[in-house]
Amino acid sequence: MDTKTFKRTLQQSDNYHRKGFGHQEQVTATLNQEYQSNLIQNIRQNNYQITRENVTIRLAEAFGFCWGVERAVAMAYETRTHFPQEKIWITNEIIHNPSVNQRLKEMNVDFIPFKEGKKDFSVVNSNEVVILPAFGASVGEMQLLNDKNCTIVDTTCPWVSKVWNSVEKHKKRSYTSIIHGKYQHEETVATSSFANIYLVVLNMEEAKYVSNYILNGGDRTEFLTKFKNAYSEGFNPDTDLERVGIANQTTMLKSETEAIGKLFEQTMMKKYNPTQLNEHFMSFNTICDATQERQDAMLNLVKEKLDLIVVIGGFNSSNTTHLQEISEEYNIPSYHIDSGDRIFVLDNKIEHKPLETDLEIKNNWLGEGEITIGVTSGASTPDKVVEDVIEKIFATKKLIN
Ligand code: SF4
Repeated sequence: MDTKTFKRTLQQSDNYHRKGFGHQEQVTATLNQEYQSNLIQNIRQNNYQITRENVTIRLAEAFGFCWGVERAVAMAYETRTHFPQEKIWITNEIIHNPSVNQRLKEMNVDFIPFKEGKKDFSVVNSNEVVILPAFGASVGEMQLLNDKNCTIVDTTCPWVSKVWNSVEKHKKRSYTSIIHGKYQHEETVATSSFANIYLVVLNMEEAKYVSNYILNGGDRTEFLTKFKNAYSEGFNPDTDLERVGIANQTTMLKSETEAIGKLFEQTMMKKYNPTQLNEHFMSFNTICDATQERQDAMLNLVKEKLDLIVVIGGFNSSNTTHLQEISEEYNIPSYHIDSGDRIFVLDNKIEHKPLETDLEIKNNWLGEGEITIGVTSGASTPDKVVEDVIEKIFATKKLIN
């Protein structure tokens, strides 16, 4: 499919909206009331620190809602205001935050249901309104909704669109897109739908495997088994890795995306003459500023003298998980939670999600005496949620001293 032409045609359609509807003022007031926090504002102004009795909270200097998320949530609220009576759907969670998604449900914005492991678009009728979330939707989904004559409100973050444009460039010059991401993540699903030939690599270990295959060849069947579900139909590692372009899921670890890009650049220089590099390798800077800022702030936070860290954000939020990875890498006890409800004040326990495992309970998670706690939150976490967590920490410590 000519995805570029399709997108251009879609963008010219009267049924397609990617800007607000002129209700910003009204919506901003509601959003401030529902998601902003005076406490967090005060902590920001107090050099990102607050001390109450024997507890000091150190907030990361960049955390929480990024502008792409704020924009998407505001557009969803504006859509409800603009279409007060219409049936409104959203193709996926607008962002990876349970409280925001719950609010949308309360506003009668319905999520496309799943049937037998797939989204069931048969529930959407012609002329209904459908919101595309911040991390976008696949070309196939957009086409289906356009064919149904739905009103499409596209909240895709411009940073994500920037990656799609890179992938279009790879396609135009017959390069295979190597996407650093999680193949099942909605953003990567959307990004790969713009590619002709693609391969998704999760991390440096996988990237090194691919690099080695490019340089030395290997077992094709083993390759295809290892990357099952992570490549385009008909992908052949023996012929489809001669020209590669790098793309990324915008919320991956910035340092890893950069290192993977460098690895493939060097791989192509080794395999082909460095003077031929441009014929075999393409890369554009598509790392989102917000992800970068939050990760840099976390890297500063872990250098401080902290007793533990609380990382707040949806469990399916990639950028939050990466913040958790950083604290684990620095061997600081850390707890990834998605809301203040995970903290049980009276019992001094916390229900949290360590990397790669299920939720678990930690009893007596806050000890007696003075304590310094680092706090950060992912790009889809409202300040109100961070406030709730901090208040619960103070309340717990008050009981145990
Ligand atoms: S994290 Fe970056 S790419 Fe994702 S929504 Fe926010 S600004 Fe956009």
